[in-house]
Amino acid sequence: MIEGWCEHALLPSGWHSGVRLRAGADGRWQEVVAGLPREGLPLLGRYLLPGMPNLHSHAFQRAMAGRAERYGRPDDSFWTWREEMYRHAGRISPEQLHVIARWLYAELVESGYTRVAEFHYLHHGPDGHPYAPPTAMADALVAAAADAGIGLTLLPVLYQRGGFREEPLAERQRRFAFATEDFLEFLAGLDGRAGIRVGCAIHSLRAVGDMALARLLGDPLIASTRRPIHIHIAEQRAEVEACLAVHGRRPIERLFDLARVDRRWCLVHATHLDDAELAQVAASGAVVGLCPTTEANLGDGLFPLAALRRAGGAWGIGSDSHVGIDPREELRWLEYQARLGSLGRTVLADGGRPEVAVNLWGEAVAGGARALGADTAGLVVGADADWLVLEEDDPVLAAASPESALSAWMFAGARCRLREVGVAGRVVADAGGHPARERWALDYRRVMAELHA
Ligand SMILES: [Zn+2]
Repeated sequence: MIEGWCEHALLPSGWHSGVRLRAGADGRWQEVVAGLPREGLPLLGRYLLPGMPNLHSHAFQRAMAGRAERYGRPDDSFWTWREEMYRHAGRISPEQLHVIARWLYAELVESGYTRVAEFHYLHHGPDGHPYAPPTAMADALVAAAADAGIGLTLLPVLYQRGGFREEPLAERQRRFAFATEDFLEFLAGLDGRAGIRVGCAIHSLRAVGDMALARLLGDPLIASTRRPIHIHIAEQRAEVEACLAVHGRRPIERLFDLARVDRRWCLVHATHLDDAELAQVAASGAVVGLCPTTEANLGDGLFPLAALRRAGGAWGIGSDSHVGIDPREELRWLEYQARLGSLGRTVLADGGRPEVAVNLWGEAVAGGARALGADTAGLVVGADADWLVLEEDDPVLAAASPESALSAWMFAGARCRLREVGVAGRVVADAGGHPARERWALDYRRVMAELHA
């Protein structure tokens, strides 16, 4: 377990110098004290940050990232991309999912993500029949996370119908389907797995009707626990229009009609929300799950993050379809889209909190940890002992202060590697990357050849 001292560390209240850190056997911080001399402790580095939680992942989509960028038809959109994704999803076996996820998780760790929430709906065999055991696909993700050393919050997804008007699932969606009672049994069967957190997800209001939603949220497995609850919501305008047409309410309004949305909830995307919905979301304590590179890739729209921050709302980042697998890329996009929209600079900062990079990193760590089911976040006693050490010898960080080091690394250091990445008190990657990267890359190439032959 890690124990040592660093010159500068990014605590929730900002950068502090002379910080002593020690993790306990439970993988959480037992000691974080600033303003101390080194006194013979191991030197951890010059700039140490909390690791970044990735609050939204569909691991299998890494194997199709970059392969849907070719013109297909004049109305190419999220909905035509989704057909491509279904074709891809239909082919993947548990063994292939394990190989894809293991490689992806190693890549995520190398980029500074130390935990991931897997929004898992690829439950059954291609013909829709459960595997033996029925958790075979979930087990592949759990094994991949353990292999790669990334922290996992598994979010089994309830997915039942094709639209707001009770449309049945299409044949290509049958791998995703669960009857509510079977889903609850599946969820109960995953509880108690060592080393992971198990939350729960509702694919979307399109995919789950009112009765199933009420049954799910009322069950003691959900109602009597603190497990996180995630949902895709208001990602596309067409979804908002369909919900309005059927229910006379926008999706986020409707979710608040149907559920007691609180700090346990993560609203993934929430792109198309009006001012009243934004105020409601911010006041609820729910975390907004932003996935800027995927949202850009799919043409979803721009989320009004500056307004959410003004309203005191919580947010975090996810790499979702994995076209981008670097937390800095997601965070840069958030600031840059705000700049492009407002024709200003340093939009996600103000006189009281002037450092854009510090605000982005700190807020995304706090919101992400909450969405992954952790009680506390960052470099504080009781939080998951996850950390990153910047490569202080990179010329990008030359003559830097802690503040400017983080800014340079985030905004100008795309080729700057991390010196060390730690999860739950243990080092999982160093300046050479993840120790298994070469071996796992070979397996990943083999699976890519199988899937794209
Ligand atoms: Zn998603």
